[in-house]
Order: sequence, then C-alpha cells, then structure tokens
Amino acid sequence: MERLVIIGAGPAGLTAAIYAARANLEPLVYAGYLAGGQLMITTEVENYPGFAEGVTGPELMSRFRQQAERFGARIHDIDVDSVRFDERPFSLIAGEERVTAACVIIATGASARWLEVPGEARLRGSGVSACATCDGAFFKGKRIAVVGGGDSAMEEALFLTRFASEVTVIYRGERLRASKIMAERARSHPKIRFAWNRVVEEVLGEKGIEALRLRDVQTDESELFAVDGLFVAIGHLPNTAIFEGQIECDAQGYVRSADGVHTNRHGVFVAGDVHDRRYRQAVTAAGAGCAAALEAERFLESLEHPVMA
Ligand code: NDP
Repeated sequence: MERLVIIGAGPAGLTAAIYAARANLEPLVYAGYLAGGQLMITTEVENYPGFAEGVTGPELMSRFRQQAERFGARIHDIDVDSVRFDERPFSLIAGEERVTAACVIIATGASARWLEVPGEARLRGSGVSACATCDGAFFKGKRIAVVGGGDSAMEEALFLTRFASEVTVIYRGERLRASKIMAERARSHPKIRFAWNRVVEEVLGEKGIEALRLRDVQTDESELFAVDGLFVAIGHLPNTAIFEGQIECDAQGYVRSADGVHTNRHGVFVAGDVHDRRYRQAVTAAGAGCAAALEAERFLESLEHPVMA
C-alpha cells in the first residue's frame, strides 16, 4: 500500500511531491500522459517569482519535476482511470496499475474550454486550436482569429503575431476582462485588431477553416469572416470526470473545499486549479500543493501514530 498518491503533475502536484518527498513519504505521482499541466502549453512565464528574466512553461515544469525526483518522488506518466474514495484504504486504477493508498492529493488541474459550435470539433487540428504555442507555427503569413477577452486570449493573440499576417480578437463584449498590461499590449500591437460584441456561431470549411460565421450581439446580424485559423481562449474546465460520485464537486465540477486543501473525504486533499477558479496561477497552485502536502503529512502521522487517550 502507498502512503501518499498524488494525482496530477502541474505546479500543485509537483510542489506537493517535493514537500512530501522531503518528508520521507515517498509519494507516488500519477502525472498523466500530458505531464506538466497547462504550463506545458504556455510560452513565457513572466510572473513566477525567482525568474527575473522569465522562464518558459515547459522549462519551469521540468525543474519542478527534477526537484521532486531528487528527493525520491516516483512519477508515473500515465493517467488515473478510476478511483474509490468511499472505503479505506483508497484505491486507484491507472492503466495496468492498481494501487491502494492511505492518503491522496488531487491536483489534476483544468483544461481548455471549447465554444461548442458547429464545425469546431470537426476542424480541430485542421485550423482550430486552443494552444498557440503548440500550433502557431503552422500559420505563417495567415489570417488568424482568437476568441476571448481574458489574459489567455491576449497572450495567444500576441504570440500569434510572430507568425500571422493579422490577428483578430473576437470578443463578445466591449470591455476586455484581461489585465490592463496585457490588454494594452494587444491593443497597441500593429498586427492585432478587435471585433467587438461578436460571437462565433459556426466554423466553416471543408479540409481547413475558410471562414467564421460571426453574430453581432447588439444588432443580431450575421456576417462571414474569412480566416485560416481559429484559436479558442475562453477559459477552462476542471479535470474531475474520474472523481464523479467519489468526491464532492460544485455545479461547475470544481472540487469543493472550504479552505482550498481539505475535501469532504478525510484523507483526500486537493490543490490547484481543480479547486481554484479564482486565482489559477502557477504560484498559487504551488502554494496550495505545499499546504496539501503538509496536511497529508499531518494526516498520515495521525494514522500511523495515533495519540493515546
Ligand atoms: P478568463 O475566464 O479570464 O477569460 C475568459 C474569456 O473568454 C472572457 O473574456 C469571457 O468573456 C470569454 N468567454 C467565455 N466563454 C465564452 C464563450 N462561450 N464564447 C465567447 N467568449 C467566451 O480566462 P483566461 O483563460 O483568459 O484567464 C484565466 C486566469 O489566468 C486569469 O486569472 C488570468 O489573469 C490568468 N492568466 C494570466 C496570464 C498572464 O499573466 N500572463 C496569461 C493567461 C492567463 P466575458 O469577459 O464576457 O466573460
């Protein structure tokens, strides 16, 4: 039986692993096939303390991982398929691996949301993407649209100017949600234009994207907008499908926790974006991972050395 299993290997899971490994808990980390989390599809991280010159997302995650492994964390790059938290010890199935665990930290993060309009799913990978870092280079000299008005959309739009001939940000409102500095950078960029008060109703094209059908939310009029690529940057959904019925989640699927660490199951802790819809930063996720590991350590201590009455 494992003492501690950590599910997820973004900043939250790997920070929990570093702390737990240094406390000799020999954590087993299920990193998933997409180990590293959302930072793996981020370009420059400018706001992680300690990296004054900035650092790329993958480089930062690789350093987290090396640090966890240095202290003895075992990291398996496979997905957890199912869990049982209604009996102790807890049990997990990950591919061919079946393990039981005295304590679990959930740090599975969140994934990009899609528009769910006709044509989007069919053309995913053929012009529709949610990751500029991954796919931007395919669009040299092309016209690209980015949907969204938050920091992600601004970041994607700015990054895509390296390749595209022009980038149009399609936003359903007129006051961007993005932080001032990001919005200003995008608004002053010569290659970036904005289509305000517009929603994408359909993605059109046979083998690749040819156009978007946009609707003006104020006049209700539709128009065709010719583009070669569409990047969707409209926020995220928590990765909690495997925990359904095993742990309490809210209506949007985020793991419920009053303090950002404890869940409704004694011995199952949570950390990072799978719970936190508010801050969603690498540094806050790392902080939560640290707190979860400290609570896990305390919990295991109480199991293994119960205080005699
Ligand atoms: P946000 O939730 O901040 O923004 C999502 C955007 O998508 C909003 O503008 C929203 O519109 C729009 N949207 C949502 N659903 C739809 C839909 N169905 N159709 C059209 N538009 C839609 O998510 P982000 O991913 O941008 O940011 C998440 C967090 O990460 C934030 O805290 C952000 O600050 C942070 N971040 C920081 C970065 C940095 O510092 N470099 C980079 C990227 C993210 P509306 O505004 O009308 O709700």
